[in-house]
Amino acid sequence: MDIKKLKLYRDKCYINGEWINANSKENISVNNPASLEEIGTVPKCGKDETILAIESAQKAFPEWKAKSARERSNILRKWFELIIKNQEELAQIMTIEQGKPIKEARGEITYGASFVEWFSEEAKRVYGDTIPDPMTDRRIIVLKQPVGVVAAITPWNFPSSMITRKCAPALAVGCPVVIKPASQTPFSALALAALAEEAGFPKGTINVITGKASEIGEELSTSPIVRKLSFTGSTEVGKILLQKCSSTVKKVSMELGGHAPFIVFDDADINEAVVGAMQSKFRNTGQTCVCANRIYVQEKVHDEFCEKFIEAVSKLKVGEGLDEEVSSGPMIDEHSLAKVEEHVEDAVQMGAKVAIGGARHSLGKNFYQPTVLTGVTPKAKITFEETFGPVAPVYKFKDEKEVIELANNSPYGLASYFYSRDIGRIWRVAEGLEYGMVGVNTGLTSKAEAPFGGIKESGLGREGSKYGMEDFLEIKYINMSGLDK
Ligand code: NAP
Repeated sequence: MDIKKLKLYRDKCYINGEWINANSKENISVNNPASLEEIGTVPKCGKDETILAIESAQKAFPEWKAKSARERSNILRKWFELIIKNQEELAQIMTIEQGKPIKEARGEITYGASFVEWFSEEAKRVYGDTIPDPMTDRRIIVLKQPVGVVAAITPWNFPSSMITRKCAPALAVGCPVVIKPASQTPFSALALAALAEEAGFPKGTINVITGKASEIGEELSTSPIVRKLSFTGSTEVGKILLQKCSSTVKKVSMELGGHAPFIVFDDADINEAVVGAMQSKFRNTGQTCVCANRIYVQEKVHDEFCEKFIEAVSKLKVGEGLDEEVSSGPMIDEHSLAKVEEHVEDAVQMGAKVAIGGARHSLGKNFYQPTVLTGVTPKAKITFEETFGPVAPVYKFKDEKEVIELANNSPYGLASYFYSRDIGRIWRVAEGLEYGMVGVNTGLTSKAEAPFGGIKESGLGREGSKYGMEDFLEIKYINMSGLDK
């Protein structure tokens, strides 16, 4: 399928309501990770175009924040409806540039749209407070106001939903946004901008800029006009941006890497645990921040779980994502593939056994076989580093106390999962896991209604739910005096 023939295909940046090229007229090439062929190009913008985008957002801010909550809500609602109406084409764009199976791409469009819908409703609920003052002639009033221009930097693994998860709450409360999508998946972002234009957002409220990450990132993180930076990506880049944002004391949200433990206790429903492990580990070919990275199985049920899990993995169909039968697509690039290879080789050298997979796929290019490793040792790299690929390392454990310690022994603290039917254990383990999110008897936890986010080096702030809106608001306290006169 030729992406250029799709009506939502845009190969220019969207700044101040106009579709523009880079000043230099230079472009960056975008490839299909399944075929490795170039599918198109986008402008290679830098500092000057970023300043233009920031200033356009600044100009749009007074008018956008002055709109009533209902007016903003209506425009967001229109955007949501257009995304749903164009779900199939948006999913096709995503699969072509990112590689995920088309069914998953459709699911991501629905998931991404759910944030626009949710925040179109929440736009009307930016409640403040009144607080009794200790002095009788005074009243304390707390207002919540939009923080100002928001910068959103997003990754390639969820090219659509990471944008809506940030922009919908920002726009709902009155903040204009400048979006810098990942260079490997810019077309999903530009397609969303095309629909935003159709939905009627005033010019400058939504800007999408593609190009040199370090130059654009430098300007977005150091400009005094940008009052909030919301980043999703690696912990490594997140730390750089956090430092840069300190120069202007911006608000920041950081959705960073993860290393999720997935625990199966001996009282668990093993069939359900296998379903959860498949969803959590192999979705998006293992390239999600909430992927199970360490599967701990209690000794009594270890062999039964492994047998059923390996059988389920053997049924995954690897291939090009537009094929409806495919359940596991390519990895994003050769660099990611090399990391997976390195993790598997290292684990095997440390004593792990390859139960299934364990090598590049015969399809070649960016394809790797869905893999299960058993008997993985604690010193293997895969136990500590985010693999970001279709490899499931399985570990055996004895008791609850031991597994909580193992699970928490990580600098990351994003998602965690466990399976148990014992109500006492469920509370103990859920409270004991040092993670921002805990899935109990489920391998999928993300939804617009819930606060998504991590602790420790997995990040700061929350996205989705009422908490996701708070991150784009400033609190203003007004003390009214002289009320007895
Ligand atoms: P990445 O390399 O950190 O890139 C993320 C974004 O940052 C891209 O838009 C990238 O632009 C940009 N970037 C890179 N260097 C930059 C710099 N110096 N200044 C400003 N921006 C810069 O991460 P990734 O490989 O795309 O994504 C995978 C990572 O994201 C994993 O660690 C995963 O766990 C994490 N993730 C976290 C969440 C979450 O919610 N916690 C969700 C999804 C993914 P270019 O593409 O142009 O380089």
